[in-house]
Amino acid sequence: MARLSFEGLRFSMHRDFVKVFLYKIFEFSLDSRELKAIGEFSVGEDFIEFPKDKEDTVRRKVMFLLGKKINGLNNSLTGNPTTYIHQNSGIPLVGNISFGIVDRGTSLLEIKPVTSCPLNCIYCSIGEGKQSKMHDFVIEREYLVKELEPIVEYKGIKDVEVHIGCQGEPLLYSQLTELVSDISKIKNVSVISMDTNGVLLTSEKVDELIDAGMNQFNISLNSPDQGIADKMAGTNYPVENVIKICEHIAKKKTRLVIAPVYLPGINDSELPKLVEMGKRLGATMGIQNFLEYSHGRRPVGQLSWEEFYARLAELETKLKTKLKLYPEDFNIRPAKSLPKPFKLGDTLKGEILCPGRYRNEAIVALKDRSITVITAKVSGTVNFRIVRTKHNIYLGKSL
Ligand code: SF4
Repeated sequence: MARLSFEGLRFSMHRDFVKVFLYKIFEFSLDSRELKAIGEFSVGEDFIEFPKDKEDTVRRKVMFLLGKKINGLNNSLTGNPTTYIHQNSGIPLVGNISFGIVDRGTSLLEIKPVTSCPLNCIYCSIGEGKQSKMHDFVIEREYLVKELEPIVEYKGIKDVEVHIGCQGEPLLYSQLTELVSDISKIKNVSVISMDTNGVLLTSEKVDELIDAGMNQFNISLNSPDQGIADKMAGTNYPVENVIKICEHIAKKKTRLVIAPVYLPGINDSELPKLVEMGKRLGATMGIQNFLEYSHGRRPVGQLSWEEFYARLAELETKLKTKLKLYPEDFNIRPAKSLPKPFKLGDTLKGEILCPGRYRNEAIVALKDRSITVITAKVSGTVNFRIVRTKHNIYLGKSL
């Protein structure tokens, strides 16, 4: 008898197909006829069983089938097509702003294990949400940790912060706790932090994450007023619950950062209330300036940094609280950057591995970097010129 289980996969039997869930929210299907061609089978939540076959014979065949069908992976929340980035995918984790590892030349490394979000914020810089129509990515946990470790070492400092800052909501990554636990074991990682909208947090999840090694929660609570919070989230936002979660975190030996996005004309009146709440909880206030981005939503005009800091200064005087924050407030300092294998203007040729995040984008891999290429092509090779290299994030334009 062969009973096969696979890390991160769950199964459910349907009339003529088996639905496979990867990391809970991503799904694809296996045709029952293709499984029957391997052998008579049955399915449990976390296994496929072949009662009449030997494990080593069927495992290879099932792995091959999974590898083929996972190309049809979808996000079950949005229906968006999704690429699973794993150790054998050939997709490097450095080079892309949407997934993987981003090194901006400081003591902080950003990691992005998943894309997707259950909210639909009217100011979202990437246009995320349930109605979003873009390509999603989810990374195999072991691959992410394996690639992160040497980059932390490369930094050459003893206090690296690993910041989980997804294009979306990190709590949609079903292996988040395990990921935090793995990162906490990497030598020279001193802080693990994350940005979250808070809607999927429970007290139990907070405790679990803290036990795993999370040291800092940045929660983008925009207003204690239900109407304004809903308006800004573009959907129902559980204000009361998120406040309770903030109160729960505040009782722990973990840093709480309340990080509302300031939308002039929409939540001006809310900032003082949030600051008072932050004072009560002993939280750091990390008010964010709304910025316009090419793929983002734009409910209001962007304030210049001078205007933004002037408004914070006014509030600081009125509320007698520090609101202007700088990298030093989070102990973020310059630190060795990863080498850049490409420079602006380089002309290159690469094979398209998968779609990019937005329409007319494709991902190419060269010299251990992922490169997003703007092209109408969806497969084959593409010739392109590098037009962005900042922070080892590469963008190319097809020639
Ligand atoms: S929570 Fe963040 S990622 Fe999600 S829609 Fe709002 S701004 Fe975008």
